[in-house]
Order: sequence, then structure tokens, then C-alpha cells
Amino acid sequence: MISDRASKLKPYTAGEQPKDKTFIKLNTNENPFPPGEMAEAALKNIDADNLKLYPDPDASQLRALIAAKENVEPENIFMGNGSDEILAFAFYALFNGGVVFPDITYSFYPTYCTLFNIDYKVLPLDEDFSLIKEDYISKNYGGIVIANPNAPTSVAAQSGFIEQVVSTNKCNVLIDEAYIDFAPKGSSAAPLIKKYTNLLVVKTFSKSYSLAGIRCGYAIGSKELISALSAVKDSFNSYPLDHVCQKVCAAAVKDNAYHEKCCADIINIRERTVDELRASGIKVLDSSANFIFVKSPSSGKELFEYLRAQKVLVRFWDKPRISDYLRVSVGSFEQMERFTDAVKSFNKEINSKKEIF
Ligand SMILES: *Cc1c(COP(=O)(O)O)cnc(C)c1O
Repeated sequence: MISDRASKLKPYTAGEQPKDKTFIKLNTNENPFPPGEMAEAALKNIDADNLKLYPDPDASQLRALIAAKENVEPENIFMGNGSDEILAFAFYALFNGGVVFPDITYSFYPTYCTLFNIDYKVLPLDEDFSLIKEDYISKNYGGIVIANPNAPTSVAAQSGFIEQVVSTNKCNVLIDEAYIDFAPKGSSAAPLIKKYTNLLVVKTFSKSYSLAGIRCGYAIGSKELISALSAVKDSFNSYPLDHVCQKVCAAAVKDNAYHEKCCADIINIRERTVDELRASGIKVLDSSANFIFVKSPSSGKELFEYLRAQKVLVRFWDKPRISDYLRVSVGSFEQMERFTDAVKSFNKEINSKKEIF
């Protein structure tokens, strides 16, 4: 017999990981570039003998490096096995009933609410997929969650908006910054944790550090919020970060030059792709992430299937408001050329059909 709890769960559906390696994989926002040489060297230098011991439960070395990078104290940093795990702990630790988030956002949020039995309400984004300011200022919610830049839309909040939300609400505010390194510099809400104790900012190594396979993320927040997360962690799993993960991620943080270059390259490829698509009449939202949200000239499903037949894998949701759109990760320059060429030929086919009828 399965528990009532477990039988009621509505698990998150992750993007497909095809066994067929001939696909161009633009469906899960992975980085097309490999981890940097310093991270690779750290991996190769792992002493297998160390693996007989439990890893450092506090990931002290890695935390100190991240704290220095974020210009906060190590006590303001919480480490987790991917930011998904941190989000789960944060939902558990920081929210009472009545948590709110946009109608179109990361679909893991409602999943955590179901898991932890938290009431939630969605606040519709406006027509352009922007946050509606009034919905978030001086409210009485049990918690607020905003992905900035948002997924799957790629749209960033206006500058100054996050601070307005944090300063005018008493409840805890969780900002999911999985894609912040692809947004203009200075967009992160992390520095605000020194001013506001109700703010938690969550980041990940999965996207901008090319380390999705290692499962590491971190949160930045006031000491109170961080100790609440630690209490949840230590009630669940004391060692979420293994030894290899701690060593490789520490090397990746030290290699700031490589990280910056990777992000700059992705942003360049993104902008070229957006320009090229727009030049051929395709609508694309302004992106601050390592993916773009593209409006199909017909239905999203039709373009999704057309691309799939050409071995280009992107993400499509058959959901209200976004079923005409595809979320496309920014791949290498060559991959994006294959993608844009395919979209252009699809567009031509659609337009020639329109001319006939
Ligand atoms: C990818 C993603 C994450 C999770 O990343 P991890 O791999 O678990 O660190 C969190 N939030 C959003 C919005 C994402 O797109």
C-alpha cells in the first residue's frame, strides 16, 4: 500500500534526456560549453581515498569561496544538492499558507506546495509576460516566489522591482536566480540580503557554470533564514554535497575568468539568434537568460514536432497562454544556426500555405 500522501503527489516533469545522441539538445537549458579547465583539473585530482569518509557536512571551503564572491559572510550561505533541493527546503521552512507566484513560471513551485501541503495562489502575468507591480506591493501573503529572470519566459523583472517587493512585504520573499548570470550585471538581488532579513536568493551551478551534472546550488540570505534551511536539511540529509561536488565547484568559483567568458559568449549567441529570428518575422521575447521564448508562426506543437523531426529538441508546454511558444536553450553557435535555419524554413512553409488559401 502506498501512503495517501504519496498517491496524491503531482511530480514535476523534467525535459527529456534522449538516449539518441544525434539530437541537438536545446530543451533543458544546459550550457553548451564544458566546465572550465580548473574544474576539470579538480575532478582529475580527486583522491579516491578521501571518498571513504563522509564529506564536510557544511561544505566550508566552498561556502567561504561563494561568500567572498557574493560579498557576504559564510553564515549567509546555504549549500544544496542542486537549487531544486534548496527550493524544496525553502518552501518547507519559510512559507505559511497563501504563498504566491506568477501563473507562468517554474512548474516546480506548485509541486513543492503539493508536497508540503502549502496553499498557493497564482498571480497572472500581464499580456507581455511581465509582473504586474500592484499584485506584489504591500500585500499580506504567506510568502512570495519570483524567478528572476523568469522561466520559461526569459523575461527579467524591472530594475528596482525586487527591492520594492521585499521592502513592502512582511512575508519571506524567495528570488530564484537560476539564470541571473545571463542578465545585465547588477541585476542580482543578493546584495539586498544585508538590508532585508525576509529575502532569500537562490542560485545554481547548473546553468552558467556548466555543472548541471554535479548537482549544486546555494542560497544567500539572513542568518535567520539560513539556519532555518539548515534545520530542514539536517532533518532530512546531513550530507547533500558529496566530496567531488565540493571540490569541483570550489575550483569553478575560483575560475572567475572562465565563468565570465562563458556567460558573455552565451549572451552573444543569444542576441545573434534573437536578431536573426526577428529579421525573418518571428516573435521572440526579450531574453535575460540562457534560453529564448519563441512564438511559433503556427501552433507551438507544430513547430516543436517539425524541429524534432529535424533532430532539434526544444521545450513545449501544452498549457494556456503559452501553447504557441517554445522555450529554446541557447546552444553553441553552430547549434543555433541549425535551429534558426529550421525555424526559417518552417516559417516559409507556413507562409506559402497562407498564400494559397
Ligand atoms: C534549472 C532551474 C533550477 C534548478 O536548477 P538545479 O539544477 O536544481 O540547480 C531552479 N529554478 C529554475 C527557474 C530553473 O530553471
